[in-house]
Amino acid sequence: MPGLDTALPLPHEEQLGVALVGLGAYTLNQILPNLPASRRCRLAALVSGNEDKARTVARAYGLGERHVYNYDTFDRIAEDQTVDVVYILLPNTMHRDWTERSFAAGKHVLCEKPMAATVADCEAMIAAGRTADRKLMIGYRAQFDPYNLRAIDLVRGDNRQIGTPRIAVGNHGRMLDLSDSRDGWRAKRDLAGGGSLFDIGIYSLNGVRYLLGEEPTEVTARFMPRSGRSEVEVEEGVAWSMLFPSGAVANCTSSYLIEGVNRLQVQGSEGTVTLDPATKYYVRHLILTRGRTHERIVIPNTNQFAAMFDELAEAIREDREPKASGTEGLRDVRIMEAIYESAEQGRSVSLI
Ligand code: NDP
Repeated sequence: MPGLDTALPLPHEEQLGVALVGLGAYTLNQILPNLPASRRCRLAALVSGNEDKARTVARAYGLGERHVYNYDTFDRIAEDQTVDVVYILLPNTMHRDWTERSFAAGKHVLCEKPMAATVADCEAMIAAGRTADRKLMIGYRAQFDPYNLRAIDLVRGDNRQIGTPRIAVGNHGRMLDLSDSRDGWRAKRDLAGGGSLFDIGIYSLNGVRYLLGEEPTEVTARFMPRSGRSEVEVEEGVAWSMLFPSGAVANCTSSYLIEGVNRLQVQGSEGTVTLDPATKYYVRHLILTRGRTHERIVIPNTNQFAAMFDELAEAIREDREPKASGTEGLRDVRIMEAIYESAEQGRSVSLI
């Protein structure tokens, strides 16, 4: 069709219906505005502890009140034939219970990162999905981002440009703002499960893993100095290095005490690929450096959120594991547990 340069959405009845659980900042500001860009998914229900907010949002997105649930009425969603997928956007330690409730209601699950607070929780979530014969995917949107995918291609794909990858770098940092309600629970261990690592360091960890395309065998970590804010019960900064089977080394940091750091880089024998910012919602800068040349690569019209939803819908249709499955979420939680163990005990921790 002349003038049409994007694929059209599927007809409404062929799209999968998604219920969003938790109407917080990420749901309201990123997921709701971007879900309509998905070809294969559409909004089907809202689940919230705040009735007024849920009603207002439902009206704004043209959703009937019978598709609005609260945390007590949620289990009735089993009878809501318009809902195929439950997307869990709650504080981290609530992810396991809500995943299990959603599987018990017969729905597929998309669960935000970090998958859960512990390896045991992640394993229980995967097992619940198997028992229910439903798919489980973790909201690793950057794995669907065309910039990050191009970076992978430049490091180790058909268009590899940097020779042998030797050093990977991942740095993520932002100031934890205790006056903002979305950061209040992030300071509390019983809701956050972990500190800056669980919240943003996970992008450094997941990023170097997908850029290198291999799994670390050993981790060495140390905590960074704390702010002294008594409300903060979790770690506010951690630095860690990881060894990979190829011999590559990753140096990573995560901090709640610096502002606006969002970087992934792979340094190879013939060049360097830098994403900075790497994992933001809308702005990413991708630079390929070879010798004295710095090439900035620009990719138009990207929507990592829509690509994530479409992958889940395709995995359901094709009855296969989605990319960014529960197993992938579990890998990061296992490594994050090892990072904390290493920092606490002052020694390297083997991952094999
Ligand atoms: P918010 O604090 O903004 O929202 C969390 C929502 O959870 C609240 O608004 C509330 O929704 C609900 N909730 C239920 N119980 C509680 C409780 N005890 N304390 C606080 N909130 C509660 O957090 P975010 O939206 O920033 O984060 C939610 C999840 O999404 C986290 O797991 C986070 O890691 C992840 N995330 C992922 C991002 C990504 O890029 N992939 C980006 C940002 C967050 P209600 O009022 O409707 O009941």
